[in-house]
Amino acid sequence: MQYFLAIIGGGPAGYTAAEKASKAGKDVVLFEQNALGGTCLNVGCIPTKSLLYGAKQYFNATHAQKYGVTAAQVAFDFGAMQKRKTIVVRKLVAGIKQRLNNEHCTVVNGKAVVISRQDSVVSIECNGETYEAENLMICTGSTNFVPPIPGIKDNPAVWDSTDALAAAELPKSIIIVGGGVIGMEFATLYHELGVPVTVIEAMPTILPNLDPEVVQILLDKYRKAGINILTNTKVESLDGGKVTANGEVYEAERVLVSVGRRANLQGLEALNELELERGAIKIDEFCKTNLPNVYACGDVTGKIMLAHVASRQAEVAVGRMLKEIPLQRIAYNAIPSVVYTNPEIASVGITEAQAESMSIPVEVKKLPMTFSGRFMAENEGETGLCKMIVDAKNHSVLGVHCIGNPCSEFISAASFAVRNGYTVPEMQQVVFPHPTVSEILHEIL
Ligand code: NAD
Repeated sequence: MQYFLAIIGGGPAGYTAAEKASKAGKDVVLFEQNALGGTCLNVGCIPTKSLLYGAKQYFNATHAQKYGVTAAQVAFDFGAMQKRKTIVVRKLVAGIKQRLNNEHCTVVNGKAVVISRQDSVVSIECNGETYEAENLMICTGSTNFVPPIPGIKDNPAVWDSTDALAAAELPKSIIIVGGGVIGMEFATLYHELGVPVTVIEAMPTILPNLDPEVVQILLDKYRKAGINILTNTKVESLDGGKVTANGEVYEAERVLVSVGRRANLQGLEALNELELERGAIKIDEFCKTNLPNVYACGDVTGKIMLAHVASRQAEVAVGRMLKEIPLQRIAYNAIPSVVYTNPEIASVGITEAQAESMSIPVEVKKLPMTFSGRFMAENEGETGLCKMIVDAKNHSVLGVHCIGNPCSEFISAASFAVRNGYTVPEMQQVVFPHPTVSEILHEIL
């Protein structure tokens, strides 16, 4: 049998593509060597958010006096948190399996290897069987990057994010190498559960890709709370839990290394003409690679390593494959992102610095989150910040950057504005429910 589409990788890109193509009546085979759901569901977004929620409950309970609440004996059970996390993940994975079954998509559990591509037929080997397809979609994701630092390899004290998520017990202390998204979310988790945390970041600031003013608020708060955050600090070597950086030695029971991720390209060797760009698969606006009928979506493209980008890429790619009219495209200028620190950071569109580097004249609007009544009611002692980047010529909203809970829940309203090029006068006509923190997007106008 020849399939219409063979997909390697069952993460957000792979399962979204499989569902969409199967729904359109096409024969689809999806290969996954681990569990459906990929990194996001099994060892990324969902397990971290489950654990972070547990940590937040504990932290809030122990810091509730400011709301007039005293809890006498607050304790947490990390084992129970882990158990709950596993159940959440299991249910979501089962849900994906069910959805693919409902669409009669063939799911093969095993490691797929491309063996050839000739005359628009791709042959794939998995578990000793050969599968043929007209179209191939590569959704193989990414893995944690291990930097070439002396003493890092085979060091039993070193964890990556997958090890940290699987650990049965909390570390007594931890050094986190890399103050990016993964590093700061784990710093939040461990700090809220009482673990001493040191973050070592090579750049002049943590979360270097975000708005610096927003990040500074987090940095000040976390340092005041006792998280040791070292910036402009390069790790030179490791010896067990001893980390030498900028000539100083820091020590902890565990060292979590979170310095970025790299595209997974194994099993694709037969596609020797596949064009790469900075170690990832190069794609066009429809996620097509340079090879006919071969598409790539998600982290393996190295575009923006976010689950919601992966699933959107998959929708666009399958739309292209099915020759949908009109063809969809991805609004890369309006991809929201969230860092689940406490407070959360959420942003969409360009920052002030990016506008400057692109020579776009902008007006920058700024407002503390305390202008929202709901924020005041629920965020004692916090100020937060909302920044809006507006095109100085046509007054369209180009970017929004916020810090303050729960900004992750309303950044999508800002995404609508950026995606559709709404202007400030158009935004002024939108009614926001009162009292909600989302009103900040109206107040700021
Ligand atoms: P990242 O690129 O976000 O951060 C890596 C950080 O490590 C950077 O700040 C970098 O300057 C620093 N660094 C690099 N080498 C270093 C060194 N030798 N010493 C000290 N610091 C060093 O990568 P990540 O945090 O590993 O996350 C990987 C990917 O996963 C990212 O694309 C991220 O967006 C995604 N992710 C997203 C979420 C979310 O959306 N909430 C959560 C987790 C991960």
